[in-house]
Amino acid sequence: MDFRSTRSSEKVSPSYALLHGLAQDGGLYVPSVFPEGVLSYTDLKNKKYQEIAEVVLSYFFTNFTDEERKTMIENAYNDVNFADSRIVPLHSIDTALSITELFHGRTLAFKDMALSLFPYLLTAAKKQEKEDREILILTATSGDTGKAALEGFKDVEGTNIMVFYPSMGVSPMQKQQMQKQEGNNVNVSAIHGNFDDAQSFLKRVFTNEEVNAYANKKGILFSSANSINVGRLLPQIVYYVSTYVSLVDSGCIEEGEAFDVVVPTGNFGNILAGYFAKKMGIPIAQFICASNENKVLADFFETGVYDMKREFFTTASPSMDILLSSNFERFLFYVAGADSAKVAAWEKDLQETGKMAVSAEELKSLREEFSGGWIDDDETRAVINHVYNDFGYLLDPHTAVAYGVYLNRRKQGLAQRHTVIMATAHPYKFPPVICDALALGQKDNPFDMLETIASCTGIYLPKALAELEMKPVRFANTMEKEEMKQAVLSFVDAIHAEHM
Ligand SMILES: *Cc1c(COP(=O)(O)O)cnc(C)c1O
Repeated sequence: MDFRSTRSSEKVSPSYALLHGLAQDGGLYVPSVFPEGVLSYTDLKNKKYQEIAEVVLSYFFTNFTDEERKTMIENAYNDVNFADSRIVPLHSIDTALSITELFHGRTLAFKDMALSLFPYLLTAAKKQEKEDREILILTATSGDTGKAALEGFKDVEGTNIMVFYPSMGVSPMQKQQMQKQEGNNVNVSAIHGNFDDAQSFLKRVFTNEEVNAYANKKGILFSSANSINVGRLLPQIVYYVSTYVSLVDSGCIEEGEAFDVVVPTGNFGNILAGYFAKKMGIPIAQFICASNENKVLADFFETGVYDMKREFFTTASPSMDILLSSNFERFLFYVAGADSAKVAAWEKDLQETGKMAVSAEELKSLREEFSGGWIDDDETRAVINHVYNDFGYLLDPHTAVAYGVYLNRRKQGLAQRHTVIMATAHPYKFPPVICDALALGQKDNPFDMLETIASCTGIYLPKALAELEMKPVRFANTMEKEEMKQAVLSFVDAIHAEHM
C-alpha cells in the first residue's frame, strides 16, 4: 500500500509517510488506493479489540509483517496502558443510544487510542527508512494530544518530544498533566496565544529551511505527532469497527444494520477515521460533526463555506477550540473525488483569504453522509446535569457537546437510526466544568474539586489522576509565540549534547 498526497500525485511508502507526516507539497497523505468494502461482521465477530486492530491495520501498514504488527498492537493495547480490558467498552444509554468510551487509556482522552501505538509504528518506520538521526517530535496541543504524545514517547529510544500548549486554553488538570510530565527526552512549554497560533507557528518552524538545516547538522530530524500523521489517523478506524461489532453482539442493531455516529470534533481526525471505517464496509449512515461555539465546521455543513475569519472562543471543551481543522483537507480530497488540483486550489483560497467553498452540488452530495450541529457552554453544562441526573452517567464537556447535538436532532425527528456518541475524554479531566454543571461549587485546587465530585457521584478516581497531585512540576514556563523557534533550537542543542 502506497500513500499519496492530497495536493499532488506524489507517492510514498507507509514508512516514509509515518516518519515525515506532511507531504513535500504541503498536502496530507492518504492511501493511494483505498481498501473499500473489505470488512464484514462475519469476519470480525468474536474478535478482541487487538485482533480487530490486526485486521484493520493490515490493509494500510503493509510495510510490516503480520508478526511485527501483532507485537506492536499487543504492546499498545494491554492492561498496562488501558484501565478496561475491553479497551473500548460500549455503554448503553437506552435502546436508541449508545456511547463508545474512548477514554480508558493512560491520559484519559481518546488521543491515547492512537498515541499508544504510534511510537511503535514510528520507531519501526525509522528503522525501515534506515534513519539514524534522533527524532524530535514537535507538537502543538489544545490539551489532550500533548499529554498523550508525551506519555507515548517518554523515554522511547531514538525519539524526543517537545510540546507547546496555549497557556489560557487548557483545563487546570490538562495543564498539570503536562507540567508534571516525567521522562528524560521530553520538553513542555506554554505559549501566550491560542491553539491555532501554536499550530501555525510550529508549522513555520517545521518547514523553515534554516531550522531544518541546523537540526540536521546536529543529527536531528523533525517529526510530528499531530493528527495529520497517518500513524495517528488510521489506528482510530479500529474503534469504529469494534463499536459496530459490539453493537451487533449486544443486540443494539442487527448484522448489517446502519447506525449514525455523533463525534465531538476539533481537528476532524476522529470523525474522518469513522468515514474511513465506513469506506472499509462498516454500515455507518450519518456522521454528525458536533462543535462548540467555535462552529466553523457546523457552519460548513450548513452552507458549504469554510470560513475561519471569525471570533475565537475559549470554551468549556478546550480540545475543540480550533478554527483551522487540520484533517479537513483529507475530507475535502474525497469531496473532490480525489482531484488533487481542486484540493490544492481550495487550500490556497483558505490560506490567502481564510475562506473556501464547495459547489452546491458537492454540498448536496456530502450532506447525504455528513451534517453538523453545535451547542454553547451553558447548554453543555445543562446536558451534563441532565444526563447525570436521568441516567447516572457523567459526561465530560466534549462528549456533552456531542450529546447536546444529538438531543437537538432527536427533537427535530432526525435521529431515526441507532446512534452512537463517541466519548472522547474522562469527565475527571475537567473538574471545574463538572462542578459547575452539577452545582457543586468551585475550589482553587482541581484535586479538591475531584474529591467533591467523587464523593457525590461515587465514580472512582482513576489512578493516573490520583497520583498526579503529588508529583512535582517540571515545566512551568510560558513564552511568547515568537520565542518558539529559539526554544526548538535550544532543545535541539540539548539533545545533541546528550547523544553525540
Ligand atoms: C482531540 C479531542 C477532540 C477533537 O478530536 P479531533 O480528532 O481533533 O476532531 C474532542 N474531544 C477531546 C476530549 C479531544 O481530546
